[in-house]
Amino acid sequence: MKDSYLFLNIAKKTNEYQKRNPGAPIIKMGIGDVTLPLPEACVKAMKKACDEMGDKETFRGYRSDEGYEFLRNAIKDYYKEKNVSIKIDEIYISDGAKSDIGNILDIFSEDCIAMVPDPVYPVYVDTNIMSGRKVIFADANEYNGFTPVPDRNVKADIIYICSPNNPTGAVYNKEQLKAWVDYANEQDAVILFDAAYEAFISDEKLPHSIFEIEGANTCAIEFCSFSKTAGFTGTRCGYTVVPDALVRDGRSIRELWVRRQSTKYNGNPYIIQRGAEAVFSAEGRAQVKANIDYYKQNTAILGKALNEKGITYFGGENSPYIWLKCPDNMSSWEFFDFLLTKCNIVGTPGSGFGKNGEGYFRLTGFGSLENTLVAAERIKAM
Ligand code: PLP
Repeated sequence: MKDSYLFLNIAKKTNEYQKRNPGAPIIKMGIGDVTLPLPEACVKAMKKACDEMGDKETFRGYRSDEGYEFLRNAIKDYYKEKNVSIKIDEIYISDGAKSDIGNILDIFSEDCIAMVPDPVYPVYVDTNIMSGRKVIFADANEYNGFTPVPDRNVKADIIYICSPNNPTGAVYNKEQLKAWVDYANEQDAVILFDAAYEAFISDEKLPHSIFEIEGANTCAIEFCSFSKTAGFTGTRCGYTVVPDALVRDGRSIRELWVRRQSTKYNGNPYIIQRGAEAVFSAEGRAQVKANIDYYKQNTAILGKALNEKGITYFGGENSPYIWLKCPDNMSSWEFFDFLLTKCNIVGTPGSGFGKNGEGYFRLTGFGSLENTLVAAERIKAM
């Protein structure tokens, strides 16, 4: 495994700069954490659940590890709005998408070959390397709009798709996803579809779930998260959908997942699941939408500033991430230093997400509006 230098290096360089320039008003747009607090509806639901846990009559102890029915039902109904029909038995609640993305690998053979887009969320590569699996890469670049499509000469057993993508902000359309679904079904591969940012899609033609694509229920597993949607980055809750129809070598993948989870996991806390359920209430939905609109306003502000400077960028529209091309052929880390020293802005060098990320740079809309406005002015004056 390669050392994970990215966020360590960002922190080290930022701290050193801050030490040399004690008063520098640094704006941090590096790590993709949210800044808005939990929606009020979630806080209210968790407080109520806390009281229930303190009452002998309503206290809850161990429960089934797949999650409470109230939350799985709410998720099932959410899918129904996308015209996707899933049963609650196919939905598994967890402490977040990251854990499930790593844990799912327990049910695959070490001989399986994993195909990972480059650049992408580094967890896909590292979890496969940790379990001794071979990783091959699908190049994502400007030529394919950062949405690589399958090459039938390449064989893989596990295929990762992240849409909307971290870090590029690219989103697959239905035709492109259909190509992956057909390829996976032909090759007996399994697609691991990361939909952590689906709530940021505003273009109605773009799919939020791989299960909107015909044939996906025989080849795909979907990972979702409340982290970026409802600010659960510290609270922790996510869910994974494993369809009944997904069978490989005569084995139900869903049953294998249940077996894995019941062995190593005892479920996410009741209090947290009540908070997550509130995300789907009328009140919760309005509050979550307001938060997402707020972050998307930030990306629009950053995008406008980059346009004014003539800096090319991708993403931003259906994603909280802006993926910019470093100006003047600077490398990702050269631009990091440039932006830090000239504008006091910290971003994320694209090279940290894979070799194709070199020469690119990620900014996020997850900051505060006030900081984003200041950052945009600094960029314009750069
Ligand atoms: N998937 C992607 C693409 C992410 O960028 C992240 C977090 O940044 C996650 C999953 C992790 O989500 P969670 O907080 O639910 O573990």
